Amino acid sequence: MNQPLPFQARTGCPACSGEAGSLGYAISNVPANSVRIHRSESAASSIPTGDIDLAGCLSCGFIWNTAFDPDLVEYSSDYEATQAYSETYRRFLRAQADELVEAYGLRNKRIVEIGCGHGEFLAEICEAGENFGIGFDPAFSADRAPSIKRGSFEVRAEPFDANTKLPEADFICCRNTLEHLADVGEFVSGLRAVIGESGEPLVFFQVPAWERIAAEGAFWDIYYEHCSYFTAASLTALFERNGFDVLSCERSYGEQYLSLLARPARDSGRPPLACGSGFGDLIEAGHRLQQEVKEWTTLLCDHSTGSGPTILWGGGSKAVALLTTCDIADGVHGVVDINPYKQDAYLPGSGVRVMAPEALKSVKPERVVVMNPIYVKEIRARLAQLDVTTQVIGLGVE
Ligand SMILES: [Zn+2]
Repeated sequence: MNQPLPFQARTGCPACSGEAGSLGYAISNVPANSVRIHRSESAASSIPTGDIDLAGCLSCGFIWNTAFDPDLVEYSSDYEATQAYSETYRRFLRAQADELVEAYGLRNKRIVEIGCGHGEFLAEICEAGENFGIGFDPAFSADRAPSIKRGSFEVRAEPFDANTKLPEADFICCRNTLEHLADVGEFVSGLRAVIGESGEPLVFFQVPAWERIAAEGAFWDIYYEHCSYFTAASLTALFERNGFDVLSCERSYGEQYLSLLARPARDSGRPPLACGSGFGDLIEAGHRLQQEVKEWTTLLCDHSTGSGPTILWGGGSKAVALLTTCDIADGVHGVVDINPYKQDAYLPGSGVRVMAPEALKSVKPERVVVMNPIYVKEIRARLAQLDVTTQVIGLGVE
């Protein structure tokens, strides 16, 4: 963690080209890829790293990492980001698919998903409405795709970019992907251009909600791959500025996500409302993040309460961000993950080992820190099943 910087003016918001200011939140040498699998500690420790230096737009409220270099990030078949081993997450996917099918009559329709992972959500929405889906994702593995009884889908293991021809679509969705892109203005205007004037597909985007990150000081949600952060206002403004009518933009999944629904505007689109952050908001968010870094560093290094080990539960980007931002790998005995592809791997940067939940029977942890509080209930049940008694702490608000 670097020392807080004084306020610095920035220019060129990637969403609206507006003027921006620094949050004074900067970290050096974080892993460029948080969820790639490494099978040895040395491989996990010798990886490409980059810097984070957040700025916020005074015109539209968009937040981004000004030090981001897209060439350092690689999305390939060893990119392991799925949350779908969790029953809680699968229920959320199913409920979201059912709601969209019901609310917008998505039956026997053509669905396109940009950044579909292994097709977990695409499968749900195609099955729920007997739809036909086409997904795009360079990290897709055919043997990991779910099979469905009704509807059908196919996935192209390639990125969706300026060279991609958009298949005919009634519904275009893009979940947990836009925050990985640096040129968000260019992406949304490009999408509007390829939709053209011919069709009026509904467009559904989901991204992490900056409002929650700022309110909780959730620094574990700030990592290199996520170079772009949105508030409901800045996400809405981005789509309105680029020729969409925004129908709704709401929080979901325990306030963690923003879900935006839009359709192409018939006219040139409404001019977006001014919704920028003030200097004070940016500085306050930066301070809140730094304060949480200090508190968690102290807490995880404090072994005075007992001699037992501390375990993190959830070996994804949040754990990587927590361990590298606080630089407290020595304070953590290991990380548990229910995804079998992650078990026995080593986390990028810190080199902390990932283990299966069953390993806790012999580890006997003093405390388990749950990386996403939405899984606390599911994890408590699993610990009880394993007959492991320990303190369970959720990051952020439970
Ligand atoms: Zn802006």
